[in-house]
Amino acid sequence: MMAIENLQRIVPPLTEWFRAFARDLPWRSDPLPYYVWISEIMLQQTRVEAVKPYFRRFTEALPDVKALADCPEEELFKLWEGLGYYSRARNLKKAAQEIVRSFGGEIPGDYEALLSLPGIGSYTAGAVASIAFGVSVSAVDGNVLRVVSRLTGSGEVIDDPRVKRFWEEQLTGLIRDSGVDSGLFNQAMMELGALICLPNGKPDCASCPLKACCRACAEGSWERIPARREKKARRKEDRTVLLIRDAVSTLIHKRDDRGLLAGLWELPNLEGKADEKQVLDYCRSLGLKVLQIRPLPEVKHVFTHVEWHMRGYLLLVEDMQEAQQSGQFAAERFLAAGTDEIGERYSVPSAFRNYMDYLGLRTGSDVFASGPSAAGTDGAAGLKSSDLNRPAGSGKNREESISGRNKNEKTEVD
Ligand code: SF4
Repeated sequence: MMAIENLQRIVPPLTEWFRAFARDLPWRSDPLPYYVWISEIMLQQTRVEAVKPYFRRFTEALPDVKALADCPEEELFKLWEGLGYYSRARNLKKAAQEIVRSFGGEIPGDYEALLSLPGIGSYTAGAVASIAFGVSVSAVDGNVLRVVSRLTGSGEVIDDPRVKRFWEEQLTGLIRDSGVDSGLFNQAMMELGALICLPNGKPDCASCPLKACCRACAEGSWERIPARREKKARRKEDRTVLLIRDAVSTLIHKRDDRGLLAGLWELPNLEGKADEKQVLDYCRSLGLKVLQIRPLPEVKHVFTHVEWHMRGYLLLVEDMQEAQQSGQFAAERFLAAGTDEIGERYSVPSAFRNYMDYLGLRTGSDVFASGPSAAGTDGAAGLKSSDLNRPAGSGKNREESISGRNKNEKTEVD
């Protein structure tokens, strides 16, 4: 593998540029270990601007490791709702509990100790150790790999863990040999990748402080660098999502504790694309008496490895209290929850967000959006039984809202 020639040449222009142009971010102004850790986990797969309001809300609700360790899972998921990748939130809590148990509640500054915690890999350990504790170690993420690959004109495939390890060693060596502030250097590399040496589209080489020593810039090869492994095609799954309501409640279901979106609440759904008869049979099997049924528009949701192609139905049923008390609901992990309660307490993954609009509820990142909700309703009581009286297709605003969302597919994994 090719190392950066004259590796240390990049340090002065890079750090000078970062001092002049670094963005003012909430976790940068006060780089406490807890803030650096939470922000780095949130920033994996999510843009800085989107993370800011989550970070503020999260650290206000859970200001330290102890509060995170003690936080009930339901509340934690609610704070995380919209960021996706819920296993990261679970690991945050597990790691916080381990920090309380083994480190007296103080995040360790030692790189190896950080690496031993759940959900912390070499990048996050390097970021926390260098930014919060000044340890001379690199933090190599996708941004940094792109920058070093372009600087050296390297054609190595950056998804290969050996390539990542190689650059971690090279950059740790650079930090130690040059004596540069490790937190400053690592953040500067990440920032350059996020603002200048962009992944899609042309990098802004004219504004880059490293252009004088960049091989990809000199050779015009930035478009094919970094090399990536070919991605596997996503699996496609059909599902039928049911928005089942009585006058005061909406039916939700807790997913299996393993697999995709493990343990999260969802709208009840069936495999495949069910017709009205199959849906009515299913409701009957749950002890529900359907008063009205209306089809909803189709929606696609993209996860990392799978796509859900969803058909929806809106169903008005008789009072669900009786079915709730029968014991079947609890045994099959169903809950008829007050509609307000779902918005405030239960976290429903964004795969269901388009259908949640029919409750007039904001979920996930929509919570931070301004203006009226996409469904054009004014709160949890937004869905009236009269909505069911309209023939399918007459809910113009709602359906436009759904098709509009289709253009903004959300990618997540769990
Ligand atoms: S000169 Fe261009 S390709 Fe090279 S590191 Fe800077 S932005 Fe990236």
